[in-house]
Amino acid sequence: MNETANRIPALFGSCVFNEETMQQYIQPAAMDAWRSCLQEGKALTLAVANDIADGMKAWALEHGATHFTHWFQPMTGFTAEKHDSFISPAGHGTIVMEFSGKELVRGEPDASSFPSGGLRATFEARGYTAWDPTAYAFIKDGTLYIPTVFFSYSGEALDKKTPLLRSIDAVSRQAVRILRLFGDTKTRKVVANVGPEQEYFLIDKELYLKREDLRMCGRTLFGAKPPKGQELDDHYYGSIRPRVTAYMQDLDEELWKLGIYSKTKHNEVAPSQHEMAPVYCDCNTACDHNQLTMDIMKKVADRHGLVCLLHEKPFAGVNGSGKHDNWSLATDSGENLFAPGKTPSQNAQFLLFLTAFIEGVDEYQELLRSTVAFAGNDHRLGAQEAPPAVISIYLGDELSDVIDSIVGETDYTDRKKGALRIGVDVLPSIPQDTTDRNRTSPLAFTGNKFEFRMLGSSQSISGPNIVLNTIMAEELQKYADALEGAEDFEAALHALIRDALRAHRRILFNGNGYEGSWLEEAKRRGLANLASTADALPAFILEKNIDLLSRHGVFSRSEMLARHEIHMENYSKVIKIEASTLIDIVQHTLLNAATAYTRDLCTAILQKKAALPGDACRVESALAASVSRLGEDLLDRCAALKTALDTMPKTLDAEGEMHYCHDQLVPAMGKVRETIDHMETLVASSYWPVPTYCDLLFSV
Ligand code: ADP
Ligand code: MG
Repeated sequence: MNETANRIPALFGSCVFNEETMQQYIQPAAMDAWRSCLQEGKALTLAVANDIADGMKAWALEHGATHFTHWFQPMTGFTAEKHDSFISPAGHGTIVMEFSGKELVRGEPDASSFPSGGLRATFEARGYTAWDPTAYAFIKDGTLYIPTVFFSYSGEALDKKTPLLRSIDAVSRQAVRILRLFGDTKTRKVVANVGPEQEYFLIDKELYLKREDLRMCGRTLFGAKPPKGQELDDHYYGSIRPRVTAYMQDLDEELWKLGIYSKTKHNEVAPSQHEMAPVYCDCNTACDHNQLTMDIMKKVADRHGLVCLLHEKPFAGVNGSGKHDNWSLATDSGENLFAPGKTPSQNAQFLLFLTAFIEGVDEYQELLRSTVAFAGNDHRLGAQEAPPAVISIYLGDELSDVIDSIVGETDYTDRKKGALRIGVDVLPSIPQDTTDRNRTSPLAFTGNKFEFRMLGSSQSISGPNIVLNTIMAEELQKYADALEGAEDFEAALHALIRDALRAHRRILFNGNGYEGSWLEEAKRRGLANLASTADALPAFILEKNIDLLSRHGVFSRSEMLARHEIHMENYSKVIKIEASTLIDIVQHTLLNAATAYTRDLCTAILQKKAALPGDACRVESALAASVSRLGEDLLDRCAALKTALDTMPKTLDAEGEMHYCHDQLVPAMGKVRETIDHMETLVASSYWPVPTYCDLLFSV
């Protein structure tokens, strides 16, 4: 007992150069400079960088590191790293271990093979990485990892961290202005906090290796529904099987070493599906940690003979995997700005932040939708298991009543009292546990934070949080501009909140988001329903969205156009890989399997008829005829898919290709799949060349 009590705290963060450790290795003056850099954004001098690099090196060498790397987050959605050893020749065939401030601060990786969306001309292949001093360095696999941003020669962001940091600054700046209006003179920074809940599947590695679709695409492209899926709800929160328990324990320890607050783990709804949720932290760290978590989930699985699937929809017919992005704002002293307060003034401040969020989401719903649009997520959004593709906000009954009262200026619950007056009246208590019941809502207020549920399990959380931060910055800026000049603050505040809620309450919806009637209602309200990636991506570069993000210094116009290009290309590439993989599997294994099975059935019929002349061979004949007919269908449908793939017009631009993939290839793949799934139910197991859903989902 005691041993664990001591062991885990000692283990936690043991591979991280966190503030406590830094203090032991770095001179106090350099530490002070680093702290001012964090708090006031003051630049670090080279001398300070040298001091920090010295301390970092000493610590890294003591902990067995031989290399260092600038770790960055290019537009692939994965992380990238290039390792350099610390060795430096010292004459006479000897070396010393070196690491300078310059090497800490800046790197120059060849950027030519990372997506740039046309930002980087081919003759200028260099990209630059620069240390992000707000994120701790850490050691993984004998290498010192230095979190960095990644940008082009001309200073344009080529990564997911740079704009996230910009958005964090933007929202902080505007939120502090609002706090000043409410008499807060101390807060210097407002922090966006994020807790991402990560879903994943674990399957047996040997079976995985037998499925080309899983290996190439991360998801099954076909597979008949097993006799049992998730109908019994027996997996959700069920007792965790020993092999999975061992994996989860190992995973926790690896994450803890890296200072990741892995907290909650449980079985999810689908068989073989699980979830890990960390304790929330600042958005930049949360994003780094989530990238690390996804990486480590896969590596640890391998040690256990398992494969961790992070794809949004590895298996049709059972739930896919998402990532709930719990988001809130807090002051640098830890006061949550989305927590309803106890005094009228705290309530007024809360209502202002709440209103800003509602207005921002309504105003920029298409933009927010576009941040979760990619091929994998098209299988989830709007498919009766994840949120619909229409964005709306769930507030729960108590807050909705409050809003009604403000908007209508009608009596609020208690008849004896007048309408709720902001800044004068106290809010009713808003229970945290009843606000979280509606699982169908894409954006739910859960007591003191918003839970954005549209993210796919494999995606970087950077994009959605960039937009959440920026729309908040935008609305708070507008409000601060209006209120700073107001003569009667309370009256102006009341009018502002009331008018904003009147104008934007259409985005509020507490009902069942899965019902068809909601889609009709949403249409009447004028809410956007961008059903697929092909519909949603173009919204990213709507003029008002470019204006918004460039106004707050988060993206330049050219950065947005580049990103848009990358996202569209990525969609088309994924669909083309899936189509090619499906064709390959059909041609190389499935048609053969069908032929072998019908051939053996026919041989059996001939032999049986010779041995038993009166026998009708009904079983063999029926099977042979059905499988043979399905084989012909499969041949035709696969040929149609191949033709569609091969005849994609060469003249299409990225947007044209994306639409072609969505309109032609996706339905053609669906047809192929339909035939395969039917065939799978008829072909004898010993002839079916790949593991079935039954094997894959019920073996760990
Ligand atoms: P549930 O499944 O009920 O949504 P979980 O405990 O699985 O709850 O996940 C909730 C997530 O929200 C955790 O990552 C938690 O740390 C995070 N969270 C809690 N409070 C906040 C907050 N104020 N801001 C951001 N994230 C938060
Ligand atoms: Mg949740």
